[in-house]
Amino acid sequence: MSNPRFLTGSAADIMAAARTLADGNLLGLPTETVYGLAADALNPRAVAAIFSAKGRPADHPLIIHLASSAQVPLFAAGVPAFATALIKAFWPGPLTLILPRRAGVADAAAGGHATVALRCPSHPLAQQVLQQALALGVQGVAAPSANLFGRVSPTTALHVREAFADLHIMDGGDCDVGIESAIVDLSRGAPVLLRPGMLTAAQLSAVCGSPVQTAYAQGQAAAGVADAPAAPGTLESHYAPRARVRLMNAAAMAAGLQSASLPVAALWLRTPLHVPPGILSLRMPADAAGCAHELFARLRELDTAGVGEIWIETLPADAVWDGVRDRLLRASA
Ligand code: AMP
Ligand code: MG
Repeated sequence: MSNPRFLTGSAADIMAAARTLADGNLLGLPTETVYGLAADALNPRAVAAIFSAKGRPADHPLIIHLASSAQVPLFAAGVPAFATALIKAFWPGPLTLILPRRAGVADAAAGGHATVALRCPSHPLAQQVLQQALALGVQGVAAPSANLFGRVSPTTALHVREAFADLHIMDGGDCDVGIESAIVDLSRGAPVLLRPGMLTAAQLSAVCGSPVQTAYAQGQAAAGVADAPAAPGTLESHYAPRARVRLMNAAAMAAGLQSASLPVAALWLRTPLHVPPGILSLRMPADAAGCAHELFARLRELDTAGVGEIWIETLPADAVWDGVRDRLLRASA
């Protein structure tokens, strides 16, 4: 890309972003969850460029972002009643639906799987870019998180620039949600939550009218997760900073810090217990939404500061924390 730059929300820059996609190039795109590395989902060459830029294996499917639910039938072979209800309740928003894929459509973006992952993001700039791109003939935009494979997802335009020197990046500010979308698989008959986000299984179940099963590892079990067949996002080690992440309760953390020798950082949800001098100690918001919003940026800052280990206070057990817990379990795997 010649003259890679940051794009604003001006009409001219929205058009420049849409043209970038229509021309088959990559774009850093803000969404309410995290920043995406975006390209025309129906252009196999553009999709291949996403995989190679990220270093992502080509069989790990990408989420396709849509301007509205009107584009769903272009990609999905069938739309079960569950899907219609979830779309009505949560789109545009941080929910990805896995649906049976229309044969021959978006093969590369779907990594050859028989299903396709679809989402309609609510970020106002993402909405405008998707609509303008649609007007230029781009019917869906494949966009995995704009980070190198396995690393922490970006939540600011600068995070994207750190990994990708050579693309236009639209600056949409800090991502509101801050962790990736919840992914619900609707291709198996009954809905299954593959990746928790900020929407809880209970909220999704209420809309589906039947319990949404969960297929992600929780608690201790997460340490033993192998490559999950349906969702590469459930790889054991993912979303990982360079520093080693350890989860422990506040008392164990305070006790361990007394004799910690490495450059260690401590993240607390409550008022920190006694912290020895020299330990980098940060207080995170004590509510799940606030914590999700800040988490990835803090992990990146601590990596930049060169800490060897990040000790994080164990999260509260309630389901509203499932999305944050999932990311931390993977970061610590
Ligand atoms: P990312 O955009 O980096 O958050 O990663 C997208 C994630 O979406 C993948 O890691 C998968 O977990 C999930 N995904 C995308 N397409 C499918 C699919 N067809 N079936 C199951 N999971 C999918
Ligand atoms: Mg990702």
